[in-house]
Amino acid sequence: MPSLTLDLLRPSPSAPVRPAAPARLNLAGLTREELRTALVETGAAPADKAKIRAGQLWRWIHHYGATDVSAMSDISKEMRAVLGERFVVARPEVVERQISKDGTRKWLIRTAPGIEIETVYIPDVGRAGALCVSSQVGCTLNCSFCHTGTQPLVRNLTAAEIVAQVQVARDDLGEWPSPKEDRRLSNIVFMGMGEPLYNLDNVAAAIDIISDNEGIAISRRRITVSTSGVVPELKRLGEETQAMLAISLHATRDELRDTLVPINRRYPLQQLMAAIRAYPGLSNARRVTFEYVMLKGVNDSPADARALIKLIAGIPAKINLIPFNPWPGSAYECSSWSAIEAFAAILNRAGYASPIRTPRGRDILAACGQLKSESEKVRASVRRRLELAQG
Ligand code: SAH
Ligand code: SF4
Repeated sequence: MPSLTLDLLRPSPSAPVRPAAPARLNLAGLTREELRTALVETGAAPADKAKIRAGQLWRWIHHYGATDVSAMSDISKEMRAVLGERFVVARPEVVERQISKDGTRKWLIRTAPGIEIETVYIPDVGRAGALCVSSQVGCTLNCSFCHTGTQPLVRNLTAAEIVAQVQVARDDLGEWPSPKEDRRLSNIVFMGMGEPLYNLDNVAAAIDIISDNEGIAISRRRITVSTSGVVPELKRLGEETQAMLAISLHATRDELRDTLVPINRRYPLQQLMAAIRAYPGLSNARRVTFEYVMLKGVNDSPADARALIKLIAGIPAKINLIPFNPWPGSAYECSSWSAIEAFAAILNRAGYASPIRTPRGRDILAACGQLKSESEKVRASVRRRLELAQG
């Protein structure tokens, strides 16, 4: 009897070819408008019912944190089946989660191959705790003291990828349904990887979603966008998002700022300060935050402190002195504690209260400016493999 071998890997020509199931659209990070359009375009709801249906889905996704259509109990079983065929409500993969001794948490979130995003939760900042979100993977700018700046831009994050960072943090902190009081995650700061004003459309759409009252409901006054100073976009940031503004100042003279924050060569201090003064909605209740990284022997003298006060005179402002967070290969040192205190004392005397930002999460490399995506390492390993393959 001839032996029979089965080749399980290759289908026989007569085997039926099953078409791959079409990928279902993820609703988790869509704007209200996109949600409505998706319902109409897929035939899940007629145009006249889509707004109400979208509102229902919205509350499930953004108020209850639902990740499964079948859990949406006020939608009929038949309708849930229709929705389930067309859509998912999915979270991206959390590749790594670290918790620091001081309670800081860091997540590495993968949304697509090579797209890895770092997000950090810092307790006792803002009203209760702040989430530091990323707006890009990498950065096109290269501020000389910033770790992210050593990584080339991989790409802008979508609004859904920005919102996903908040959803992942909320999942982990157990904050669904969205609490009105006693939140652990009360503030959002765009101080992770990337320059938010080079991705303003997606940042603005994400802020619309995050601040929506029937969802995550973090007020726009508790959302801060930090920029290195992309002057032409400042007005639009204020008008479209009403977010609080933070400026990475770090130097009060063009000559020095040109080297620390090179975008200063394009938009020098005089232009930057004029755009800040014109930022929509500034008042004593809505102040600009000036971030100032303390670099030993570079920008930390008493004369620098006095120049800072002079430069920002008349602007409703807070100042955040950030002790420099060193990273492997960085060319700077953090100022001595006594230099930082002396600098802060001069600012205090001028009316700026306790401006030193305590470094948090240093043990898990979660502090400001230390975020650098693992995807760079991944790309390097792929490159190495390709080189090997090519001999
Ligand atoms: N690109 C934006 C937002 C992300 S950076 C911006 O530059 O504002 C967030 C803050 O961390 C900025 O104020 C930045 O200057 C600061 N920062 C970057 N590297 C740092 C480091 N190594 N130590 C301390 N602060 C740093
Ligand atoms: Fe980019 Fe901000 Fe880092 Fe500068 S400080 S390189 S703008 S992330």
